[in-house]
Amino acid sequence: MEIGRFAPTTSGRAHPGTLLAGLLAWLDIRSRGGRFVLRMEDIDPTAQSGAHREGLLDDLQWFGLNWDDLVWQSQRQSSHEAALDQLAASGLLYECGCSRTTIKAAGLPSAAGGWVYPGTCRHRRLADWRGSRLNLRVDLSGWNIEVKDEGGDDLGQVVSQALGDPMVRRADGGVTYQLAVVVDDAEAGVTRVVRGRDLASSTATQVALRKILGFPIPVYRHHLLLLEPQGEKLAKLHQSIATDELRKHYRPEELVGFLAAASGLRPTPTEVTLQELLADFSWDRVSRQDRVVTWDGRAVRM
Ligand code: GLU
Repeated sequence: MEIGRFAPTTSGRAHPGTLLAGLLAWLDIRSRGGRFVLRMEDIDPTAQSGAHREGLLDDLQWFGLNWDDLVWQSQRQSSHEAALDQLAASGLLYECGCSRTTIKAAGLPSAAGGWVYPGTCRHRRLADWRGSRLNLRVDLSGWNIEVKDEGGDDLGQVVSQALGDPMVRRADGGVTYQLAVVVDDAEAGVTRVVRGRDLASSTATQVALRKILGFPIPVYRHHLLLLEPQGEKLAKLHQSIATDELRKHYRPEELVGFLAAASGLRPTPTEVTLQELLADFSWDRVSRQDRVVTWDGRAVRM
């Protein structure tokens, strides 16, 4: 059976971009009769507000999504640590004391914006990572990853050149997104990773980590984003419209209708239910173009 997931970060309430990502992941897996896992990514120390965790969950329920399993990433620490043990045992884990400034000074622009980590500390291999008070990275030199998005885009990279060796644990002891996403998806048996286009550049890194850890490679499908008028991804931090505000002005079917139109699934933003969208869902009908949306205080516009 296919297993899909939606993995929102709990740094705020849901906004239209969050709901679009949830909607497309849900349609993808439900249209295949598969299982749907909701994983709340709540391990970032800045994202751990209890109010947002519960509020976000409530937003997704209000919107009409349903799931077969609910996973809180913060409760998965022992699996994350086991993966660090495995990386250390493979001899690829090293500690890194480089600051952002030193990394920037190396002057290697990254495929994801920012700077490529130049591999300065690769000689600082660790067997016992638990004793380290520094950032931990995985040596991915030599990994030329070939991977295609299901929509046809080539996501292949020479990872160490495109993004640099990924950090897998921060100096403060927290496991990073790149490692946690791989471990949690693999343990949930996820076969289809459907998510926004902004994460496409991380795919090769995640495939490399999966290969090292011996995990199977899922199908990857990246979709359009909703953008702010200045062209940035709609984000909780960019004063976009949080669902608690939207809920004062919209019923769920109206918002589903708006997102269906924004993503090309319906010609106009008229009310529709999730079940109605499911009946004729196909990726062929989902637009590949990002959409700029605005909020006029009462309605979302595109
Ligand atoms: N938590 C990540 C985010 O909200 C998504 C993780 C993923 O889909 O791989 O951006």
